[in-house]
Amino acid sequence: MSKKMTNAQLFDRAQAAIPGGVNSPVRAFGSVGGTPRFLVKAKGPYVYDSEGIEYVDLIASWGPAILGHANRRAVKAVQKAAAKGLSFGASSPGETILAELIEQRVSPVDRVRLVSTGTEATMTAIRLARAATGRDLLVKFAGHYHGHSDGLLAAAGSGLATFALPGSAGVPAPIAAQTLVIPYNDPDALRAVFAEHGEKIAAVITEAAPANMGVVPPLPGFNAAMTAIAHEHGALIIFDEVLTGFRVGAAGFWGVEDKSKDSSGYRPDLFCFGKVIGGGLPVAAIGGRRDIMELLAPLGPVYQAGTLSGNPVAVAAGIATLQGLTPRVYKKLDRTARTIADAASAALSQVSVPHRIQWAGNLFSIVFGEEAAISGLHDYAAVQRQESWRYPPFFHAMLNAGVSLPPSLFEAWFVTAAHDQRAIDRILTALPKAAKAADTA
Ligand code: PMP
Repeated sequence: MSKKMTNAQLFDRAQAAIPGGVNSPVRAFGSVGGTPRFLVKAKGPYVYDSEGIEYVDLIASWGPAILGHANRRAVKAVQKAAAKGLSFGASSPGETILAELIEQRVSPVDRVRLVSTGTEATMTAIRLARAATGRDLLVKFAGHYHGHSDGLLAAAGSGLATFALPGSAGVPAPIAAQTLVIPYNDPDALRAVFAEHGEKIAAVITEAAPANMGVVPPLPGFNAAMTAIAHEHGALIIFDEVLTGFRVGAAGFWGVEDKSKDSSGYRPDLFCFGKVIGGGLPVAAIGGRRDIMELLAPLGPVYQAGTLSGNPVAVAAGIATLQGLTPRVYKKLDRTARTIADAASAALSQVSVPHRIQWAGNLFSIVFGEEAAISGLHDYAAVQRQESWRYPPFFHAMLNAGVSLPPSLFEAWFVTAAHDQRAIDRILTALPKAAKAADTA
């Protein structure tokens, strides 16, 4: 394909070969309109499209590029591993090193099994929970996204929120019926579902801090209360940290809460990781209590496998990325996120656009409208009521000024450790005009 093709030409060509022209729906700019940018290169905090335009990136490949794009250490590690073979289909030492790095950082995790995507991780965690409890039902929260397996697409966030889909076609009703969907941040709803179905519920699956309906953090004590309620009824907690894990801190959002004053020291039974642990290559993981994890084949009766699981090249990227995530890097991520969010909020306030920044560690997003400004938005119904029409013009004003935001209101903004002053300055310069666009939308 010639380098000279425009984004529009590339999109046309893609649409003739790939459904919707994309391999993951949110990339299609469906809710913000316009032509998706076709990227050809990325370095540090920047991405470059086919027309040679440079953007400061606040997507970071939806999380994995936490050290910045094409991080030198990670690329070197990948090149070195690739030169020795792309995949063995047999065990290799790096798999154990990556598992150990995860176990050392997240103390409730005794054992780790590597897979290639977050979807596989949550799928396997649920199978494990069902096997461990001998129960079938799963509780999930509206607006949480756990990947695209059949049982998890009811009232899910991410692309389903972006495209306002209640679920997915093609999911058999008996499978959908195994998932009970309840509102988030509502301990009474959780108590009620356990009161009615308690003896049949295998697990509650939750995003550690939801970031697929925009950022909607758990209210203080909610994760602890949820864990207590589930455990009281003999059900397990599956903590989905695919997005938050190793991003908001070395021990993920669980670690952030574990260190906080009002933590009751809750311990989820199973964790799911992805994104950052592959540093941009496909690695994800299920981790958790040894007794549950050892139900996996070959030790136990729960089957799970993968041709490319623990792939040596992908694992090399993951190891380099986790090793690069020092306490100093986390501090820098926190600072950068705060600077950008404060500036966004100030710009919106300047033109009296009602809004609030919602936070989970260094992840944040903007919610729009009076309700958001007054009380914050705490569940999926609330985020759907916001003034979402303000986002497309805001997004495009930023894009025109060379800043690439997530093309959906229902996604978090991702900073990287490579966002330096030049990159941050471009964002700060772009914000006032974008805020005005959100005001007059
Ligand atoms: N869980 C969460 C919380 C996620 O954010 C995602 C992806 N955004 C997934 C699971 C699924 O991961 P993957 O796209 O790698 O299948």
